[in-house]
Amino acid sequence: MSARILVVDDVPANVKLLEARLSAEYFDVMTASNGTEALAICHRAECDIILLDVMMPDMDGFEVCRRLKSDPATHHIPVVMVTALDSPSDRNRGLEAGADDFLTKPVSDVVLIARVRSLTRLKMMTDELRMRAITSLEIGMQAPERSAVADTGKGGRILLVDDRQSSYERLATILAAEHTVDVEPNPTEALFHAAEGNYDLLIVSLDLNNFDGLRLCSQARSLERTRHVPILAIADPENSTRLLRGLEIGVNDYLLRPIDKTELLARARTQIRRRRYTDHLRDNVQNSIEMAITDALTGLHNRRYMESHLATLAEQAATRGKPLALMILDIDFFKAINDNYGHDAGDDVLREFAVRVRKSIRGIDLACRYGGEEFVIVMPETDLHVAGMVAERLRRSIAGEPFAIHKGAKRIEVTISIGLTTLEQKGEAVADVLKRADMALYRAKHDGRNRVVSQAA
Ligand code: GH3
Ligand code: MG
Ligand code: MG
Repeated sequence: MSARILVVDDVPANVKLLEARLSAEYFDVMTASNGTEALAICHRAECDIILLDVMMPDMDGFEVCRRLKSDPATHHIPVVMVTALDSPSDRNRGLEAGADDFLTKPVSDVVLIARVRSLTRLKMMTDELRMRAITSLEIGMQAPERSAVADTGKGGRILLVDDRQSSYERLATILAAEHTVDVEPNPTEALFHAAEGNYDLLIVSLDLNNFDGLRLCSQARSLERTRHVPILAIADPENSTRLLRGLEIGVNDYLLRPIDKTELLARARTQIRRRRYTDHLRDNVQNSIEMAITDALTGLHNRRYMESHLATLAEQAATRGKPLALMILDIDFFKAINDNYGHDAGDDVLREFAVRVRKSIRGIDLACRYGGEEFVIVMPETDLHVAGMVAERLRRSIAGEPFAIHKGAKRIEVTISIGLTTLEQKGEAVADVLKRADMALYRAKHDGRNRVVSQAA
């Protein structure tokens, strides 16, 4: 993993200096001498992180940063401002512009590398999510970039872990202007609190009494429930070396005491905004995975999923010497339902049918919509006799209770036919099992419908 770092500075000597240091740590370095050039490079997605000089002729660093952060195509690229002036107002101008961090010239090597490494990790993770989320865009989900650019970063849920009363009272008051804040003065409780609270940000003091705040940070990183919650560390200046260690173990950002109000708020907003964006990406990925294996109308699995999963289930059954039952269900005279009551009524029947199927089967059974009004249910560890009872119960649950259509204005009788079989004990190709079930179904239709026909292997 070799991150590409873009160094932007109008003074060639500064560029050379940073370039040499980063190259020595095996980063790929690209350079630009003005804002326009930098924006073009970012637009071509050629860099992972930007080290951006503040004072440049024409377009200054603040403006470059603002443009990057307000553009859906580039807003996710971490920006580190490099400035000769280290006044709070300067820092805050950069943070307001959306900068992810600040380095003051002359730049300390250790801090530079720690920062770039931690932002690299973050960028790699976001990139992977973005890549996977592209699939969800292709199937019509909302792009998270647009809401990310508009997100103010306010209204977050923050857990503040700090055992000094004067400190947490002041910090909580500042943060409460924009967020909901919970304070946890007991560090041994903090991890549980964090795991239960669904927070957008953890703020952890590293100057706790008799407790290592970094340990808490690293525990939060390894716990599933808190793994993705950003951490902002706070430390006394004499503890600043521990902050670097913190960045290595996954702390996202830090502040030194005495804490500047505006800077605290700006850094909290940046973390919360990023958290919401990656959450959104993660949701999209999750949704697209689900959509890829789910039938949209009924919520049951789709045929593609059934076919790949059935092979696995059949293999398992054969190696473990357990039975596996499979049935194909087909709604009787479904075409007539469409013809008589309309296609929407047909859809209502399919949806309600899926609800009843789900109620009749176990969690380990696999139900899928195989085609228009044809369904397949696979039941692991179930023999033909038991499967026959399940099928019969299913048949009755459909025929025994009319289906509501036209928004409940009308109820109609629906029946199904079921063809049932099992996998041969010594194992066989799933296509053969399906064929046998299909033949049984054909007989059920032929013999008058609304019935179950079993066919032993
Ligand atoms: P049989 O008892 O022999 O199964 O008769 P059938 O009418 O159920 O069977 P046929 O295969 O002739 O018709 C199935 C109908 O299902 C035809 C098709 O238009 C309809 N269909 C398929 N998918 C959908 C769907 O998603 N929604 C609706 N409303 N109808 C569908
Ligand atoms: Mg049918
Ligand atoms: Mg059919």
